[in-house]
Amino acid sequence: MTKRLAESLSLAVQIPTISNADPLKEDREVFLRFQAFLEQRYPNMYRELEIKRFGDSLLYKWKGEQDEAELFLAHYDVVPHEGQGWTTEPFGGEITGEHVIGRGTLDDKGNCILLHEVVESLLAEGFKPKKTIYLAIGADEEVGGRRGAVEMAAYLKEIGAKIHTILDEGGAVTVDVIEGARKPLALIGLAEKGSTNFKLTLRGSGGHSSMPPPKNVIGEMADIIAKIDDNPAKVALTSTVQAMFETMAPYIMGVKGKLLGRIKKLFPVVSKILVSSPTTNSLVRTTTTVTMVKGGNAPNVIPAKVEAIVNARILQGDSVEKVSTRLRELIGDKAELEVALHEEPSKVTPHDTQEFELLKDSIEHIFGDVVVVPYLMSGGSDARHYQDLSEHIFRFSPVVMTKKDVASVHSADEMITLDNLDKGYAFFRDYLMQRSMR
Ligand SMILES: [Zn+2]
Repeated sequence: MTKRLAESLSLAVQIPTISNADPLKEDREVFLRFQAFLEQRYPNMYRELEIKRFGDSLLYKWKGEQDEAELFLAHYDVVPHEGQGWTTEPFGGEITGEHVIGRGTLDDKGNCILLHEVVESLLAEGFKPKKTIYLAIGADEEVGGRRGAVEMAAYLKEIGAKIHTILDEGGAVTVDVIEGARKPLALIGLAEKGSTNFKLTLRGSGGHSSMPPPKNVIGEMADIIAKIDDNPAKVALTSTVQAMFETMAPYIMGVKGKLLGRIKKLFPVVSKILVSSPTTNSLVRTTTTVTMVKGGNAPNVIPAKVEAIVNARILQGDSVEKVSTRLRELIGDKAELEVALHEEPSKVTPHDTQEFELLKDSIEHIFGDVVVVPYLMSGGSDARHYQDLSEHIFRFSPVVMTKKDVASVHSADEMITLDNLDKGYAFFRDYLMQRSMR
């Protein structure tokens, strides 16, 4: 099996499905080639399941005895590779004794291929699910999912699909990612922060650089940016983050574990420690950071306009409107402020449920002695587009990830171990069968 999984993933990696926010800048042929690859590699699925296309995204329906359904998400588009310093061929799909190497192996062609492999082999074995199974495979997750996930979710809503639970990429079984952890932590994302872009525009009179005013619009924008950086949002403890720290605390060594175990009571103190690292800082506050600045196009001309984009990652309990008000107060009246991309924080999946327990059991069954931990995702995934369809949305990728693996996602030398492919396959098979038989 390992050989087949590695080969399938290698072939998938070799098709460079880089998505772009502007569909005209995408290489359509590549996306069609990927779809043809799936069709050829998974003949049972393409013979027996109902398949609907939403642009290049694919929605598979495996009809069960019941209308009630389970939904599995993955995506096959990937981010670009240029300028990242890859030491191997990003789209070579090289298989070594231990790894499959290449862009998308962890995010998210691995999950995409494993889901296909599991369904294909269950079909071959004659497995009949009680519940209906949907697989929604996005082709534009990395650029927001508007053409894929948004449309597929709208369709499922329109046909009244009764989705019980949803599983998407997200957390993983982490080893040495969280400092001081004595056991691997399996992080299940229960929520994701909102990602909103604000556009700031400053206008001035412009002019020749030989007779400048004391400060031109670029300097004024620099002051505004410094103000935003120097005035972070207030810290807050959300239910998800509280559950996360309380669950992992007994397995964290030393004083840190003790403090985290009492986070609710000690939050004023503990938060001071948490904000000192960008990772934990992002869990306890809405963050804002300037990601783009545009202004000036000649060395001797003062521009009449400067623009900046502020990317805000909004915590549950906060909102686009509140962040907007806060930014407005900070920057004063001079700059124009508009919302360029509006995305509120997601709903929160409850975790004191049978649904969470079943997922936890599957993870422990396959990954052994790990601690299953609820978790808040700072990044986004397609899952948020499906949040009206089910209360039980879990974000978890069945892979063991080290710090190095985490750093390779969207970066150089992304690779997955063969052992992870085996475990991922076993997990999806176990979990999908369990869910489908309830
Ligand atoms: Zn992804």
